[in-house]
Amino acid sequence: MTTYSRQPLVLVRGHGCRVWDEGGKPYLDFVAGLAVCNLGHAHPAVAQAAAAQLAKLVHVSNLYYTTPQIELAEALVRLTFADRVFFCNSGAEAVEGAIKLCRRYAATRFGPARFRIICMANSFHGRTMGALSATGQEKFWQGYEPLLPGFAFVPFNDLEALREAVNHTVCAVMLEPIQGEGGVKPPAADFLPAVRRLCDEQEILLVFDEVQTGLGRTGRLFAHEHFGVAPDIMAIAKALANGLPMGALLAKEEVAQAFTPGSHASTFGGGPVIAAAAKAALDLLSTPEFLASVRDKGAYLEGRLQELRAKFPIIREVRGVGLMWGLELNTEGAPLVAACRERGLLVNCTQNTVIRLLPPLIIEKAELDEGLEILAAALEATCS
Ligand SMILES: *Cc1c(COP(=O)(O)O)cnc(C)c1O
Repeated sequence: MTTYSRQPLVLVRGHGCRVWDEGGKPYLDFVAGLAVCNLGHAHPAVAQAAAAQLAKLVHVSNLYYTTPQIELAEALVRLTFADRVFFCNSGAEAVEGAIKLCRRYAATRFGPARFRIICMANSFHGRTMGALSATGQEKFWQGYEPLLPGFAFVPFNDLEALREAVNHTVCAVMLEPIQGEGGVKPPAADFLPAVRRLCDEQEILLVFDEVQTGLGRTGRLFAHEHFGVAPDIMAIAKALANGLPMGALLAKEEVAQAFTPGSHASTFGGGPVIAAAAKAALDLLSTPEFLASVRDKGAYLEGRLQELRAKFPIIREVRGVGLMWGLELNTEGAPLVAACRERGLLVNCTQNTVIRLLPPLIIEKAELDEGLEILAAALEATCS
């Protein structure tokens, strides 16, 4: 169905930071499946882990344990604030799980009146009805109302508005530590710590949607680590299995206890093939050396993007962290996306005017330079 305005490309093969179309033309991929292929395309460790498991045991149902799922859950718990993990198949599903866990925790602890969740304006949490209802952008709601009740929105970075929105009917605050689809918007330095303090004072759960910012994208395993705060619940997906569909819901023990046998489920969630792939990816993404290399390349990329901004007045602002960057243009971004594509570079445009760069985290500086040269040439061509 025509739910995408697609680029006119058929892609047949990928390797590292490059993909090839059916005519054999290579493209440097600064989209990486929208922050999914953090280890690049066709990564051998992920491919081998998935292939080996595919030949051994594909599916059994979550009525039973499997070793890959246990090992992945243990790794996620060891690497994060969380004590418990629930596996699902996408970001939206992880967000749905977060909404359900917040409501159930609050219902168990405080009674049924406490079900509302405060979200941020301009947020993005996914397309299922619950996740859509938590998404603070009316354009995504058109034609789908009535939405799920119980969501309120305040401007991102506005602590006063958040304080005013909190009352005894609120069970949680949910936000992306850095808004992704909303135009790559990092928070003010003190916003997340202040939100954490407010949630603690009011006994409200704090949920981070790290579907896009997680798994090394910002140069930390999870973006909230930059701000010295941890959530009670976290939704992750996108890069978790480096391109295979997987989501997860992470929570502290006390909160996770609100889910009891039969209260939530997923047929495919955490299946052994995907879990084996995810464990292989996580082992590589989570090392201190790898994350330091992302921060190093991110600082380099930032410098080069600021140079472009100084040279091309069409770029209003450059925003980002690690290898997640947005170039806010003072015009529509689609012609620049096309000009880059024609020259062999894939970039994405979000919010009509923000060019989003999400290269694979394994990228070499020489490949960053190559992409930036194409971007500069495309800017030159579309500006004149
Ligand atoms: C992509 C995204 C989602 C939705 O993930 P799907 O796997 O497409 O359902 C949710 N939250 C954020 C922050 C995202 O970037």
